[in-house]
Amino acid sequence: MRKILDLLLPQTCAGCGAPGGVWCPGCAATLDDVRVVERSATRGLAPVLALTAYGGAVRRAVIAYKERNRWPLARPLGLALAAALPRLAALVPAAAAAWPALVTLLGAEVGDAEPGHGRGVLWLVPAPSTAASIRRRGGNHMARVAGIAAAALGARGVRAGVAPALAYGRGTRDSVGLDRELRAANARRHLAVDRAALPPSGSPVLVTDDVITTGSTAAACVRALRAEGHPVLAVLACAATD
Ligand SMILES: [Zn+2]
Repeated sequence: MRKILDLLLPQTCAGCGAPGGVWCPGCAATLDDVRVVERSATRGLAPVLALTAYGGAVRRAVIAYKERNRWPLARPLGLALAAALPRLAALVPAAAAAWPALVTLLGAEVGDAEPGHGRGVLWLVPAPSTAASIRRRGGNHMARVAGIAAAALGARGVRAGVAPALAYGRGTRDSVGLDRELRAANARRHLAVDRAALPPSGSPVLVTDDVITTGSTAAACVRALRAEGHPVLAVLACAATD
Protein backbone atom coordinates (compact mmCIF):
# COMPACT_ATOMS: atom_id res chain seq x y z
CA MET A 1 0.00 0.00 0.00
CA ARG A 2 2.78 2.31 0.99
CA LYS A 3 4.56 1.60 -2.28
CA ILE A 4 1.40 2.38 -4.24
CA LEU A 5 1.00 5.66 -2.37
CA ASP A 6 4.64 6.50 -3.05
CA LEU A 7 3.92 6.11 -6.75
CA LEU A 8 0.76 8.21 -6.69
CA LEU A 9 1.80 11.06 -4.42
CA PRO A 10 4.15 13.70 -5.75
CA GLN A 11 7.66 13.05 -4.42
CA THR A 12 9.56 15.66 -2.54
CA CYS A 13 13.23 15.64 -1.59
CA ALA A 14 13.73 14.24 1.93
CA GLY A 15 16.61 16.65 2.43
CA CYS A 16 15.16 19.99 1.37
CA GLY A 17 11.53 19.46 0.33
CA ALA A 18 12.12 20.32 -3.34
CA PRO A 19 9.62 18.64 -5.68
CA GLY A 20 10.59 16.01 -8.23
CA GLY A 21 12.09 13.07 -6.37
CA VAL A 22 13.12 11.62 -3.02
CA TRP A 23 16.61 13.13 -3.14
CA CYS A 24 17.52 16.13 -5.29
CA PRO A 25 20.88 16.76 -7.01
CA GLY A 26 21.65 19.60 -4.59
CA CYS A 27 21.28 17.34 -1.56
CA ALA A 28 23.16 14.55 -3.35
CA ALA A 29 26.10 16.95 -3.70
CA THR A 30 26.29 17.20 0.10
CA LEU A 31 27.27 13.50 0.18
CA ASP A 32 29.93 13.84 -2.49
CA ASP A 33 32.85 13.71 -0.08
CA VAL A 34 34.56 11.42 2.41
CA ARG A 35 36.37 12.40 5.59
CA VAL A 36 38.22 10.67 8.38
CA VAL A 37 36.33 10.60 11.69
CA GLU A 38 38.28 10.55 14.95
CA ARG A 39 36.70 8.72 17.88
CA SER A 40 38.42 7.43 21.00
CA ALA A 41 36.24 4.30 20.87
CA THR A 42 37.68 3.18 17.54
CA ARG A 43 41.26 4.41 17.93
CA GLY A 44 43.68 1.65 17.00
CA LEU A 45 40.86 -0.60 15.75
CA ALA A 46 40.04 0.60 12.23
CA PRO A 47 39.89 3.86 10.31
CA VAL A 48 36.41 5.39 10.45
CA LEU A 49 35.20 7.57 7.59
CA ALA A 50 31.98 9.39 6.83
CA LEU A 51 30.57 11.17 3.81
CA THR A 52 29.58 14.28 5.70
CA ALA A 53 28.74 15.84 9.06
CA TYR A 54 25.42 14.76 10.54
CA GLY A 55 23.04 17.67 10.14
CA GLY A 56 20.83 19.46 7.64
CA ALA A 57 19.74 17.52 4.57
CA VAL A 58 21.50 14.26 5.44
CA ARG A 59 20.04 14.24 8.95
CA ARG A 60 16.54 14.75 7.59
CA ALA A 61 17.10 12.01 5.02
CA VAL A 62 18.44 9.49 7.55
CA ILE A 63 15.51 10.16 9.88
CA ALA A 64 13.00 9.91 7.01
CA TYR A 65 14.61 6.67 5.91
CA LYS A 66 14.91 5.02 9.32
CA GLU A 67 11.92 6.35 11.18
CA ARG A 68 9.40 7.16 8.47
CA ASN A 69 10.11 4.20 6.21
CA ARG A 70 10.97 6.24 3.13
CA TRP A 71 12.59 3.19 1.60
CA PRO A 72 13.43 4.80 -1.79
CA LEU A 73 16.13 6.76 0.10
CA ALA A 74 18.16 3.55 0.35
CA ARG A 75 19.16 4.09 -3.26
CA PRO A 76 20.79 7.54 -3.02
CA LEU A 77 22.44 6.59 0.28
CA GLY A 78 23.80 3.34 -1.19
CA LEU A 79 25.01 5.06 -4.34
CA ALA A 80 26.75 7.75 -2.27
CA LEU A 81 28.59 5.11 -0.21
CA ALA A 82 29.65 3.29 -3.38
CA ALA A 83 30.87 6.51 -4.97
CA ALA A 84 32.97 7.28 -1.86
CA LEU A 85 34.82 3.97 -1.84
CA PRO A 86 37.53 4.84 -4.39
CA ARG A 87 38.36 7.93 -2.33
CA LEU A 88 38.30 5.82 0.83
CA ALA A 89 40.89 3.58 -0.82
CA ALA A 90 43.06 6.63 -1.44
CA LEU A 91 42.90 7.44 2.30
CA VAL A 92 43.24 3.89 3.65
CA PRO A 93 46.26 2.07 2.14
CA ALA A 94 45.11 -1.34 3.45
CA ALA A 95 41.83 -0.96 1.57
CA ALA A 96 43.66 -0.01 -1.63
CA ALA A 97 45.87 -3.11 -1.27
CA ALA A 98 42.96 -5.46 -0.57
CA TRP A 99 40.64 -4.10 -3.26
CA PRO A 100 42.82 -2.76 -6.10
CA ALA A 101 39.75 -2.43 -8.32
CA LEU A 102 38.83 0.61 -6.22
CA VAL A 103 42.12 2.24 -7.14
CA THR A 104 41.40 1.54 -10.81
CA LEU A 105 38.09 3.35 -10.38
CA LEU A 106 39.82 6.30 -8.79
CA GLY A 107 41.97 6.55 -11.90
CA ALA A 108 38.85 6.16 -14.03
CA GLU A 109 37.36 9.28 -12.50
CA VAL A 110 39.84 11.37 -14.40
CA GLY A 111 40.60 9.03 -17.30
CA ASP A 112 38.83 6.21 -19.10
CA ALA A 113 36.05 4.46 -17.24
CA GLU A 114 37.59 1.05 -17.71
CA PRO A 115 36.26 -1.58 -15.31
CA GLY A 116 38.73 -2.66 -12.66
CA HIS A 117 39.71 -6.28 -12.14
CA GLY A 118 39.73 -6.77 -8.41
CA ARG A 119 41.56 -9.63 -6.78
CA GLY A 120 39.40 -9.73 -3.71
CA VAL A 121 35.69 -9.36 -3.28
CA LEU A 122 34.82 -6.23 -1.34
CA TRP A 123 32.61 -7.47 1.49
CA LEU A 124 30.32 -4.93 3.07
CA VAL A 125 29.09 -5.81 6.53
CA PRO A 126 26.16 -3.60 7.56
CA ALA A 127 25.98 -2.44 11.16
CA PRO A 128 23.15 -4.25 12.91
CA SER A 129 19.70 -3.01 13.79
CA THR A 130 17.85 -4.19 16.86
CA ALA A 131 15.18 -6.83 16.32
CA ALA A 132 12.59 -4.26 17.42
CA SER A 133 13.68 -1.70 14.83
CA ILE A 134 13.85 -4.36 12.10
CA ARG A 135 10.23 -5.19 12.90
CA ARG A 136 9.24 -1.54 13.07
CA ARG A 137 11.03 -0.67 9.83
CA GLY A 138 10.18 -3.88 8.03
CA GLY A 139 13.83 -4.78 7.42
CA ASN A 140 17.46 -4.02 8.24
CA HIS A 141 17.82 -0.53 6.82
CA MET A 142 21.62 -0.66 6.51
CA ALA A 143 21.58 -4.05 4.77
CA ARG A 144 19.35 -2.51 2.11
CA VAL A 145 21.74 0.44 1.65
CA ALA A 146 24.73 -1.91 1.50
CA GLY A 147 22.97 -4.03 -1.14
CA ILE A 148 22.54 -1.00 -3.37
CA ALA A 149 26.16 0.03 -2.82
CA ALA A 150 27.39 -3.46 -3.72
CA ALA A 151 25.28 -3.54 -6.89
CA ALA A 152 26.59 -0.12 -7.92
CA LEU A 153 30.18 -1.27 -7.37
CA GLY A 154 29.50 -4.43 -9.36
CA ALA A 155 28.23 -2.33 -12.26
CA ARG A 156 31.58 -0.52 -12.25
CA GLY A 157 33.65 -3.69 -12.26
CA VAL A 158 34.33 -4.01 -8.53
CA ARG A 159 33.24 -7.39 -7.20
CA ALA A 160 31.33 -6.65 -4.02
CA GLY A 161 29.03 -8.54 -1.71
CA VAL A 162 26.97 -7.94 1.40
CA ALA A 163 27.47 -10.08 4.48
CA PRO A 164 24.71 -9.24 6.98
CA ALA A 165 26.46 -11.19 9.73
CA LEU A 166 26.01 -8.80 12.64
CA ALA A 167 22.87 -8.74 14.73
CA TYR A 168 21.83 -7.71 18.16
CA GLY A 169 20.80 -10.43 20.52
CA ARG A 170 17.52 -10.53 22.35
CA GLY A 171 16.78 -7.78 24.78
CA THR A 172 18.93 -5.14 23.12
CA ARG A 173 17.55 -1.66 23.54
CA ASP A 174 17.38 0.67 20.60
CA SER A 175 20.29 3.06 21.13
CA VAL A 176 18.13 6.14 20.53
CA GLY A 177 17.96 8.04 23.80
CA LEU A 178 20.70 6.09 25.57
CA ASP A 179 23.63 8.06 26.91
CA ARG A 180 27.16 7.43 25.79
CA GLU A 181 28.10 4.83 28.42
CA LEU A 182 24.88 2.87 28.18
CA ARG A 183 25.16 2.89 24.43
CA ALA A 184 28.68 1.46 24.55
CA ALA A 185 27.67 -1.21 27.05
CA ASN A 186 24.59 -2.01 24.98
CA ALA A 187 26.67 -2.44 21.83
CA ARG A 188 29.32 -4.60 23.52
CA ARG A 189 27.02 -6.87 25.42
CA HIS A 190 24.54 -7.84 22.77
CA LEU A 191 26.32 -7.91 19.44
CA ALA A 192 26.04 -11.38 17.94
CA VAL A 193 27.68 -12.85 14.85
CA ASP A 194 25.70 -15.03 12.46
CA ARG A 195 28.55 -17.23 11.24
CA ALA A 196 26.48 -18.54 8.33
CA ALA A 197 26.29 -14.99 6.95
CA LEU A 198 30.02 -14.22 7.24
CA PRO A 199 32.10 -13.85 4.06
CA PRO A 200 34.64 -16.58 3.18
CA SER A 201 37.09 -17.25 5.99
CA GLY A 202 39.66 -14.53 6.54
CA SER A 203 38.27 -12.09 3.94
CA PRO A 204 38.86 -8.45 4.74
CA VAL A 205 35.65 -6.51 5.21
CA LEU A 206 34.29 -3.00 5.39
CA VAL A 207 31.61 -2.10 7.93
CA THR A 208 28.88 0.29 6.80
CA ASP A 209 26.66 2.33 9.09
CA ASP A 210 24.30 5.27 8.86
CA VAL A 211 25.58 7.68 11.51
CA ILE A 212 28.70 7.58 13.68
CA THR A 213 28.04 9.16 17.07
CA THR A 214 30.28 7.93 19.90
CA GLY A 215 31.83 5.24 17.71
CA SER A 216 30.95 2.55 20.25
CA THR A 217 28.76 0.59 17.83
CA ALA A 218 31.47 0.77 15.17
CA ALA A 219 34.07 -0.42 17.68
CA ALA A 220 31.87 -3.34 18.74
CA CYS A 221 31.33 -4.32 15.09
CA VAL A 222 35.07 -4.25 14.39
CA ARG A 223 35.88 -6.34 17.46
CA ALA A 224 33.19 -8.91 16.70
CA LEU A 225 34.39 -9.37 13.11
CA ARG A 226 38.03 -9.50 14.11
CA ALA A 227 37.24 -12.20 16.65
CA GLU A 228 35.93 -14.25 13.71
CA GLY A 229 39.19 -13.73 11.81
CA HIS A 230 38.02 -10.96 9.47
CA PRO A 231 40.26 -7.89 9.23
CA VAL A 232 38.08 -4.78 9.19
CA LEU A 233 39.86 -2.36 6.88
CA ALA A 234 37.53 0.57 7.52
CA VAL A 235 34.14 1.65 8.78
CA LEU A 236 32.22 3.89 6.37
CA ALA A 237 29.13 5.83 7.45
CA CYS A 238 26.82 8.20 5.65
CA ALA A 239 27.44 10.83 8.30
CA ALA A 240 29.18 11.51 11.61
CA THR A 241 28.20 13.83 14.41
CA ASP A 242 30.64 16.70 15.08
ZN1 LIG B 1 17.09 18.28 -1.68
